[in-house]
Amino acid sequence: MRTMKAMVLEEPKKFVYQDVPVPSINSEEVLIKVKYCGICGSDWGSYQGKYAEEVACLPLITGHEFWGVIEEVGKDVISVKPGDRVAVDICLPCGTCYYCRRGEPLLCGSFAQIGIHVNGAFAEYVKAPARNCYILPDEIDDYAAAFIEPLTACINASRKMNCELGASVAVIGAGLGTIHALLAKLRGAAPVIVIDSQQKRLETAKAMSADYVIDITKTPDAVAEVMKLTDGVGVDYVIEAVGKSQTYEQAFKMIRRGGKLEAFGICSDDDLAKLPPAAFVLQEKKIGGSCAGIGHDWEVAIALLQYKRVDPHPLISMIVPLRELEQSLNELQQNKDLVKVLVSPEISERIILIQ
Ligand SMILES: [Zn+2]
Ligand SMILES: [Zn+2]
Repeated sequence: MRTMKAMVLEEPKKFVYQDVPVPSINSEEVLIKVKYCGICGSDWGSYQGKYAEEVACLPLITGHEFWGVIEEVGKDVISVKPGDRVAVDICLPCGTCYYCRRGEPLLCGSFAQIGIHVNGAFAEYVKAPARNCYILPDEIDDYAAAFIEPLTACINASRKMNCELGASVAVIGAGLGTIHALLAKLRGAAPVIVIDSQQKRLETAKAMSADYVIDITKTPDAVAEVMKLTDGVGVDYVIEAVGKSQTYEQAFKMIRRGGKLEAFGICSDDDLAKLPPAAFVLQEKKIGGSCAGIGHDWEVAIALLQYKRVDPHPLISMIVPLRELEQSLNELQQNKDLVKVLVSPEISERIILIQ
């Protein structure tokens, strides 16, 4: 049996670098040689055992922000061929449940995602259904291609938020928040405000997308600052891209009467936030959420990268060998200057892109 190197999350807080069988494919699947797989904030949550539903899937090869080159295709596959560079829609909705049949596959009753619920790409190979694969145009370079999955999640949120020309938008969190801010700007939002505690991240946000940045280490009352920047009105939209109860509470206070909070940051299962129900009625404040990108979001992400509407390079901090995954997860927690770290099964030394 052919084997490959993989990082297996055996139980919370325990990755084991080991040889495992190369995945075997059915007639409608493809085998992909992994080139790069980004580390997501949610990978830290999975590693810590924060989400009960995911712990139930262990042991598992995680890693969902990937692209690669097709090595082998099942006998019924005609849409892609060996040698194609592909990005993969990681969503595996069942197609037959109540939600799938009403066209809301992200809410599927038995929803699974590659690298979260079934084996993913912190390995030399990953398998996927051929219908989930999107061929990458040459204009998208190897590092940018690893940014497609997180970009699809931001695109899905942006579409649901649906901000209009001239809408004011605040984003809490300058990791993927910087991309949310950029998408808001592409939709004509003005002004766009980004809030974070890390100076370096805020500098990147300012360079890429934000009209204003608020550094909460210098200006702790971010709500008051947003009010000041909007003449006491509040913003039309806030995106919470951190995943903490406290920042959700702040986000709700920043929106104007009739405004909307778009929920993106993932809290733990048992986190609770205090929100005044009266504000839903008397101030007509709204909340929506969005959990992932799916389907056409992949085509949108590819177009935005191909035509350089989005350039993710300022957010890609370094590339690390597969065996350094666990170490890098910890580094990402300790060093908030790091934003996106990519894992490569093909290198043995790390490559630092941004100091
Ligand atoms: Zn992710
Ligand atoms: Zn379903």
